Formats: sequence, structure tokens, C-alpha cells
Amino acid sequence: MTSSPIEQLVARSRRIGAIPALVVHGGGNTSTKMTGRDHLGRERKLLAIKGSGADLATIDASGFTFLFLDGLLTLRTRDKMDDDAMVAFVTHCQAEPLARRPSIETLLHAFLPATNVDHVHADAICALTNGPDARTVVRDALGPRVAFVEYVRPGFALARRVADLADHDAVILAHHGLVTWGEDDTFARTMELVGRASAYLDRRRRTTVPRAPAPSAVDEDFLLRLRGRLARRGRVILHASEDGSIAQRDDLERIAAAGPATADHLLTIGLAPLVVSDAGSIDDAVDRYEKRYTAYWERNRDRAPTGIAMHDPRPRVVLVAGAGTIALAETERRARVIADVAAHTHAVAAMALDAFGDAVSLSDRDLFDIDYWPLELAKLGRPQPKPELAGQVVIVTGAAGAIGSAVAQQVAAAGAHVVITDIDAPRLDAVAEALSHDGHSVMPLVGEISDERFVDRLVSDAIARYGGVDGCVSNAGIAVTGRLADLPTSEWQRSLDVNTSSHFFLTRRLLRALGTQGLGGSLVYVASKNAFDAGAGFGAYSVAKAAQVQIARLAAIEGGSVGVRANVINPDAIFAGSRLWSEELRRSRAAAHGVGVDDLEAFYASRNLLHRGVRAEDVAYAAVFLLSERSSRTTGCVITVDGGLSAAFPR
Ligand code: ZN
Repeated sequence: MTSSPIEQLVARSRRIGAIPALVVHGGGNTSTKMTGRDHLGRERKLLAIKGSGADLATIDASGFTFLFLDGLLTLRTRDKMDDDAMVAFVTHCQAEPLARRPSIETLLHAFLPATNVDHVHADAICALTNGPDARTVVRDALGPRVAFVEYVRPGFALARRVADLADHDAVILAHHGLVTWGEDDTFARTMELVGRASAYLDRRRRTTVPRAPAPSAVDEDFLLRLRGRLARRGRVILHASEDGSIAQRDDLERIAAAGPATADHLLTIGLAPLVVSDAGSIDDAVDRYEKRYTAYWERNRDRAPTGIAMHDPRPRVVLVAGAGTIALAETERRARVIADVAAHTHAVAAMALDAFGDAVSLSDRDLFDIDYWPLELAKLGRPQPKPELAGQVVIVTGAAGAIGSAVAQQVAAAGAHVVITDIDAPRLDAVAEALSHDGHSVMPLVGEISDERFVDRLVSDAIARYGGVDGCVSNAGIAVTGRLADLPTSEWQRSLDVNTSSHFFLTRRLLRALGTQGLGGSLVYVASKNAFDAGAGFGAYSVAKAAQVQIARLAAIEGGSVGVRANVINPDAIFAGSRLWSEELRRSRAAAHGVGVDDLEAFYASRNLLHRGVRAEDVAYAAVFLLSERSSRTTGCVITVDGGLSAAFPR
């Protein structure tokens, strides 16, 4: 059975999208010309082309937009057309007015008479054009049947130039990519040309490969210092990838100077990576980078659309000599995309350097015209308000429990990347799964929080994964019951280990890391109303919780000079979903209060001033507030979340 033209287009597109050396993260586009019917049932020639933003790797039929070809072809005889007029015209040609906006390269596909057109930003093709004398190199590598077009920003002019070359087999676009066309298998033609380009680069490859610098590591100290400097303009997540091959080269400055391999890479990775050799040179290197970006803006700003301010001048990619690549963004997801695209740009620069001894990119002016391209700026739309904890990394302990999971959920919803820990592996996994399912970035780590080696690893792993840390909700705790007269030493010690020492271990570890990072931070401790209002038969718990409050106060006193805040939340009993409130604890507390087990919850609600039961989410609201800038002038404070208990008022 033969498949429909659109099924064939989807299949071909996915084959291309599956090869990162051809296209990455939404790059490239494909089309086919076919017959279909318009809204009046008339038979029309249609162009089906990838919609803007669709990813060839995962595209389905809904990722394509259909346009009336006869309408588009009326533009073929025009001399010029600006972007706005072109986009407006193309929009009028859509068969479905509300379909997604078609690729900016729509006219290029429409003007070529062939049925199928594929356009990729293949690494090997870009490497051919990103060395000196690209026109000669392309002819040398691919022969006279493949045309070459000097760089021009995608739009009407490029579409016309390519259409004028339709008597060739394919077109290479400088600093951009490859266009192939045909009646049948364009994929094979694309692969054949990319293969020939690769073989040519291999033949030209110099025999002496750049010597590797001494291997170094992106260690914790390096990450904290780097993030500390980069996050001054707003918190960011660092994603480190150890792509040794590039970082081991001794010509990293030349790789960086080569700039983005293509215009669409620029939109993702920015102008150029920052090269850093060691932790000591981070500050100067970032300063120089930001000055360079500002100077580039000043040189070109009169060509920026009116009302547009300078973009964030920070690098988005850092090449660490001998170690690897670090990408930064407000979310880990975005940082990973940047890292992927950067790897291809760096590979293209390396190929060009190895084959031709030089790598060149777009001119300063052409870079700026993409960087501040009104069509791309329009895609970003109105600036959205940032989530309150955007770019932050927060550790939540005891995260499998009622309070911990509610805190993790709200902290993640506020934009933070959460590192959650608990000793209960199945429940922690369930919490992590729910958070990932909602699209949050979460790292679960199972372990015993009263073991200082585990606490050390918890913080190390958080920093290795996200590049730094901004705060914690130190929440893990256990209930230990028994009157002092009967309390075994082991029970007393168990309460002190989990309810006091674990908070000390985390505090000590975080104060050191936050000190190195130099961005301040917020430590939030979930203690208990028992810290101030001890309960009979609950001594080991009450004493340990009082000590926890004292740890928080000391952290506030000692952390203040480096901007680290420390505050406490004192909840009263929370029953729903609680692990702390085991059957045994319920029986024991019911006996202590002289009420039936079934009446315990009602008893706790009735004894407070508001007569309301306390919920886990009430604690989470307070935690998000204490982590956020809204509480930036608050430290050493205790917030009660207990419905109002005068005996437990902070003092
Ligand atoms: Zn393109």
C-alpha cells in the first residue's frame, strides 16, 4: 500500500530529524507539493511545509502547515519584499487560517519547482562554508552541480536566489546549510552530499591535531564560583557536559572566536562561548565577555528595532579548558538544549580549523541582524513574569512525607529545581515522578539524613547536577515518644540524631557552599510547636526540636554577613498523609491528652485559637515565602503554622 504525500513527508522528516549531525532542536525544514481541496471544495495545488518551531525528530502531520501554492507563486516575479510584508502575504495564503505559522523559509520551498524540498543545517556542510574561500571549497568538495550562495538572512531575497539556481542539483547556503530537492528520495541526496562533505573534510584534515591541555575537572569549587559570578544578573542553572574532544583542544579561543555555526544556532547559544581555564580567572573572563557584548551592542544598536533593549550580556556557554562544556539558562531543560546546539557549533568550528586552518562565522553586522531580528523577537512575545524561584536550586529533606512532599511540590511550582531526599525510597520515587510528570526538574536521592557522609553527598550531587544551590527546607524528622523517667538512651539519641544533628550537618555543609558561591541563600527549618511548648511524654522530640530552632538562629547570626538567611516554621500536628503520625504515636498522644484515638485530630483543631486543623500546604506556603525575595529582610525568625497556640508563641 502506498502512503499519502503527507505520510511520506512525515516519514522523511523524521528520518532527517533522527540525525543530530543534520539538524538539532527544531532546526531545518521539509516540504512537499501536492493537490488538495480548499474550503469551497475546489481542487488546489498545496505546499505542505514544517511549521515554525516544530521539531523534525518528533514531527507528525499536525506539525505541517498547508498553503495555496498559486498564491505564493505570484511573488516569484517580485524584486524585493521586506519581512513584515512577506509574512503577512504568506499568512494570507494559508489553507487553514489558524494553523501554526509556516517556516520563515516557506517561499524558498515554494519557488523551487521540485515536488520535495529538504533543508538541513548539517555540521559537515557548515564546516565547508565556515572556512576561508568557501565558494572554491564547496565546488572542490561537491562539484559544479551544487551551487553556492553567499550569506544572506533568510527571507524573500534568499528564496529568490535559491530559486534562480533550480537548474542545479542542490544549493549550499553559506553559514547556514544545504537545500536539496527532487521528485522522489531527497533524503538519499541529502545524505550523499553530507557524506561527500565529510569525506572532503577528512581528506583535508591536518595530520597534527591540536595538543590537549592538562586534563582538569569541573569540580564543586569551580561550579560554585562560576555560578556565583554568572548569577549576579539572575539565578541560572548550570548544565555541565563532559564532551572531552572539544575541551581537550589547545585552540579553544579559536573555537570560541569562530562564533555560532549558523544563524539559528546563534538564537540558542548566543554570540560565542566564554573560555575559562581555571577558577581563579572566572571573574575577569566574565567581566571581559560582558564588556565585549555591550560594545557589540553599542556598535550596532542603531539597527535594532525601536524600543528593544540590549539582551542579557552573559555568555550562555562556557568552555572549560581540559574539562568540558557548561551551558547556563534559567531552567535545566533549556540549558541542555543550549549544550546540545553548542556541541554542534563547536564541532563545526573544529572541523573547519582542522581542514582549513581557520574558522570564520557571520560578520559582526550579520550576527547582530539575527540577534535582534524583529521576526525572532516577535516570537518571544511579551515578557512573561518570572516564577518567583526561577533558576534556583532548593534541597528538601524528608520529602517523602506529608510536609516534605507538599513543600517540594510548591517550591518546584514556584520555578525552583528541587533536590529531594528521604530514607523511604518507594515514596520518594513517587514524589519525584509526580513532580517530573508536572514538568518540573527534580533530583531524588535516597539516604539517611543523620549520616553526615550522606549529607555531604547530597549537597555535592545537587551542585554537580545544577551547578549550585540556593537554599534548603530542612524538614526531615521523626517522632520519639516516652516519658523521661522511662526513656531509653537509644531512643533519646535517635531523636537527637535525626531531629537535631541532621540539621546541623546540612547547615554546616550549606553554609560552606553558599559562602563559596557568594550569592547568599535561604535556609528554612521545619521545627515544631513543641520547640516552645514541650509536651509530656514527648521529651526527646521537644528537646531536639528546640535545639533545631537554636541551630537556625545561629545560622542566621553566622550567615548574615554573606547574605544567608535562616528561618524556622513551627507547625502543629498535621495528620493528612503523615508518616510521622503512626498508629503508635496517635495512641500515645491521645493517651497523653486524655482523648480517644479517633478524636485526636478534632482535639488538635479545637485546641488552637482559630479552631482549624493544620495542613501540609499551609507549611509549604510559609516555606516558599521564606525562600523567596519577598522575605529578603527576614532572618532569625520563627513563623507559626499551628492555628494559634498561645503557649507556643515564639519568644
Ligand atoms: Zn535554515
